[in-house]
Amino acid sequence: MQPVVVDIPMRVRFRGITRRQAMVWQGPAGWAEWSPFLDYSGDEIVPWLAAAREAAQDGWPAPVRDRVPVNCTIPVIDPEAAAERAATSGCGTAKIKVADHRASKAEDEARIAAVRDALGARGRIRIDANGAWDVDTAVERLTRLARFDLEYAEQPVATTEELAELRRRLAQQHVDVPIAADESIRRSGDPEKVKALEAADVAVLKVQPLGGVRRCLDLAELLDMPVVVSSALETSIGLAAGIALAAALPELPFACGLNTIDLLDADLVSSSLRAENGAIPVTARPVPESALLEAARADDTVIRMWQARLAETERRYDGGMDT
Ligand SMILES: [Mg+2]
Repeated sequence: MQPVVVDIPMRVRFRGITRRQAMVWQGPAGWAEWSPFLDYSGDEIVPWLAAAREAAQDGWPAPVRDRVPVNCTIPVIDPEAAAERAATSGCGTAKIKVADHRASKAEDEARIAAVRDALGARGRIRIDANGAWDVDTAVERLTRLARFDLEYAEQPVATTEELAELRRRLAQQHVDVPIAADESIRRSGDPEKVKALEAADVAVLKVQPLGGVRRCLDLAELLDMPVVVSSALETSIGLAAGIALAAALPELPFACGLNTIDLLDADLVSSSLRAENGAIPVTARPVPESALLEAARADDTVIRMWQARLAETERRYDGGMDT
């Protein structure tokens, strides 16, 4: 069938974007979403197409669990709003964005303290710096932030080499903050280096940038470290692939970053993949509802841009590019 292009406003500005565009189509195995961010291009978005083709044509391995625990996400907001968001989420784990240019070090700390208060001692708190710190800054910040009993710090520094150096220095100084690799896994072009350099304790996997559920399962086995599955801000059609991965992993010790549907102002199904009591139930694959698909349909300019993008990516994919 002809892919449908959708264009959905974000409810909260996230990752610098205010609208989320995606292509969805139906194949023999079910509905697929292809939604590489607009600032990605060329060979980097070929794995995203591999993931969509897997979803449409092959489907996914069988689940081994029927619910996937998820975290709530705390963007750069003031401490009161952060506490409120964490307390009302129903999730026992919060992921807090830090090191954003809009917030100072003191504001980051106040936000973390507020969420720790809101979740209590049993709550789990992780931070994500998106590679913003250098190693010295990361050592200093994490040494200070360790008192909040962090579950882990996600990509505190930019490169895999820096992650490895940071991890060594924290160990030397007896600072107990585990390190998670995110961008080092999905954008470095060499996820295995994270294992080779002993650069992380936890791996964040995202289905679309890594080329599909099976590729992620293989990578998880190869990395041989705990995995956290995160979304790429998909509609429920794309989130279903993340849920399928999280549901198929042999072990899932951490909450996943898949409870992101409420960052979008609309979805393509009325029963969205959303947390109930801190977990997303593993259900049958979602099928878009025609009225919702129609309501989200992009304008002609956006449709033509995505058609051209797909055609170019298909040429790269079918040209034998190793995805
Ligand atoms: Mg991240």
